[in-house]
Amino acid sequence: MVFTGIYEQNNEKVFVIRDTIEVRVPIKFYSQLKKKYTDEEIVSIHEPKVLRHHYTGREMIYITKESGIPLIGHTAFGLIDRGTNLIQVRPVSGCNLNCIFCSVDEGVTQTRKTDYIVDTDHLVEEFAKIAALKGNDVEAHIDGQGEPFLYPYMVELLEKLRKVPQVKTISAQSNGMMLDEEKIRSMDGLIDRINLSISSMDERRGYALAGTKKYSVEHVKNVARMLSESSIDVLLAPVWVPGYNDEDIPRIIEFGLEIGAGKKFPAFGIQNYVRYQFGKKVKGKAMRFPDFFDRLAEYEKAYGIKLKLSPSDFGIHKSPSLPKVFKKGEKLKLDLIAPGRVHGEMLAVERGRVIGVLTDKPVGTRVNAEITRITDNVYVAVTGSS
Ligand code: SF4
Repeated sequence: MVFTGIYEQNNEKVFVIRDTIEVRVPIKFYSQLKKKYTDEEIVSIHEPKVLRHHYTGREMIYITKESGIPLIGHTAFGLIDRGTNLIQVRPVSGCNLNCIFCSVDEGVTQTRKTDYIVDTDHLVEEFAKIAALKGNDVEAHIDGQGEPFLYPYMVELLEKLRKVPQVKTISAQSNGMMLDEEKIRSMDGLIDRINLSISSMDERRGYALAGTKKYSVEHVKNVARMLSESSIDVLLAPVWVPGYNDEDIPRIIEFGLEIGAGKKFPAFGIQNYVRYQFGKKVKGKAMRFPDFFDRLAEYEKAYGIKLKLSPSDFGIHKSPSLPKVFKKGEKLKLDLIAPGRVHGEMLAVERGRVIGVLTDKPVGTRVNAEITRITDNVYVAVTGSS
C-alpha cells in the first residue's frame, strides 16, 4: 500500500493513498489498534473508517465486485455505452480544479456530495463484456466527472485494457495538472491519445478560468510538449468561453501547430461553452452554435487545418450495444443502497444496472420509484409514496 501522506486532523488519523484516497480512522480506535497492528493492517482490515477524496474532501465510495454496485447505469462512475465502438471508462470522480465553466460543477460545488472510485479488475472485467459485443476496433475512452488522472491505478488500468482483444485505441481526457515526465513515460506504448484541456495561453487568465491558483498554464504547455515528443498523441481541447478567452483560441492553435499536436488523430477539439442545468454558469452570453461554427470555419481557413470534427474523424461508428433493461415510466420497488452523486439522489440496483434515484430518503430505505429518464443505459428514477 502506497501512503503518500499520514497526518492527524479532526480527531482522525488520515492515511492518503497514492495522492487521491484518504482513509480516515478515529484516533481513539487507531491508538488501540496500533498496539497490535501495522498501519497497513489497520487501513486494510479494521473498522470504523471513512474513505474520502483527498482533493474534494467528499465521501468516497469504493466500488468493487463485492460491493454489488453494477458499473452500468450512472454517469459518475463505471462504463457508458452509447451504441458506438467507443466505450467511456470512468474510474474515478472528482477534480483537482474548479473551472468556472465546468459542466459537472466540479471543485467548489453546490450540487455534488459523493465521489466514487472503481476497482481496476472489476472495471476491466465489465468493460471486456461490452467490448465483446462490438467488433475489433473498440476505443476505450477514459473520462469522467472530474480528472481521470486522479485515479491512483491508471497504469494498471491501461495495462489491463490493452489486453482486452477488441481494444484498438485507448484515449483519455485530462486537464494536465497531474501529468509529468515520469507519468508520461510510464504510459508510453499503453495509451494512444490524451485530449488535453487547455483553455488559455496566459498564466493569469489560465487560473481565472481554472478557478484556482494551483493551475499553471506553463505546466500544461510542458505536458503538451512532452506528449507530442512521446508516442502518445495529444489533442488540445480548449473550452471557448466568449468574453473570457477569445484571444486565446488562435494562440492555442498556433501552439498546437508549433509542437506538432495530432500525429494520428486531429490536433484540436475546440468546444463551445454550454450552460448546463447542473454545470457552472459564467456571466455573459453563450455563443450560438451557428456563430461558433462560423468562427471555426474562419480559423480553418486562416490556418489551413480542420476544426469542425465529427465522430468519424476519430474512427467512431455505430456498433451493437447493451440492451436497455427498463422502460420509461416503468414502476419499481427499489432498495437505496448508497449515497448518490448529487444532493437529493441515492443509488439503487436492479436487473444488473445502477439507478440514480431522486429522493431524500436515507440508505436502507425501500421505495416505490418510477423510471423517468433513460439515456444510453443511464437510468434516473423518482420516488413516489413508499
Ligand atoms: S478540469 Fe474538467 S472536471 Fe475539472 S473543474 Fe475543470 S472542467 Fe470541471
